[in-house]
Amino acid sequence: MASTNGDGTRPAIDGSVAHPARRYNYWLGGKDHFAADRASGDEIERKFPGMRTGVRANRDVLGRMVHYLAAEAGLRQFLDIGTGLPTADNTHEVAQRAAADCRVVYVDNDPMVRTHAQALLKGTPAGRTAYLEADLREPSAILHDPELKATLSLDEPVALMLVAILHFIPGAGAAQPLVRELLDALPAGSYLAATHFTTDFMTADEQTRYRALQAAGRSDVWPRDHTEFGALFDGLELVDPGVVLATEWRPLPGADQPDPRLIGMLAAVGRKP
Ligand code: SAH
Repeated sequence: MASTNGDGTRPAIDGSVAHPARRYNYWLGGKDHFAADRASGDEIERKFPGMRTGVRANRDVLGRMVHYLAAEAGLRQFLDIGTGLPTADNTHEVAQRAAADCRVVYVDNDPMVRTHAQALLKGTPAGRTAYLEADLREPSAILHDPELKATLSLDEPVALMLVAILHFIPGAGAAQPLVRELLDALPAGSYLAATHFTTDFMTADEQTRYRALQAAGRSDVWPRDHTEFGALFDGLELVDPGVVLATEWRPLPGADQPDPRLIGMLAAVGRKP
């Protein structure tokens, strides 16, 4: 179900307010962002230099996770919630390089992502991609969307991708029920692949400054620690190496290992038994 205004129309793209997808695109070096996104991105970056390194590390681990799931775990279906603006190596491209018949449903709640997704997210003829404008906070609307059902079979294993999105669900314990509801709808052999912003690796001083930024309403990114992020995988079999810094999740041989304080992203993949 697409989010709508009260009168049933789709919300217009509001460029005057910073938006996570566009700010992320700005940090990744893309070109789909407005002044408000750049200002917000620069403010966070000024206070926490290294944000871009973390963003790059997140995008890279997304690719390694999808490759692992398609090439090693044999998954052919992906539900990628929090698509972001299309960039290089989108989920369907990585998955379909490993197996051309992979099917991907992308979900995002940003109208700007929708306009780009329709133009760019074209899969292989053997596979399929679809895009839903929907909200992670309404899992049942996602799960019952006719487009999803036309693209994925919920009787076969699905890789649920929640990559750099759960930190936009603020509040202690707020992410868990959403993840549960989605996983409960998927059969045994399905996977959860997720990353999450954390302040675990910051100094005490940096943590205090980050909390101040949040309290002042200057950051919409809600950090979770290793314990709370790890608990999202309760009941799943964690894939090696478990819950780790994004750069440490199955790094490519010879890959750089930057200072963990610059990364600040946890990553994990788990299999539903
Ligand atoms: N998964 C991609 C993009 C992460 S950026 C990657 O890791 O590279 C986070 C994305 O989540 C943005 O596109 C933003 O619009 C989307 N998002 C944030 N909150 C959301 C919500 N409640 N429902 C759906 N999408 C959301």
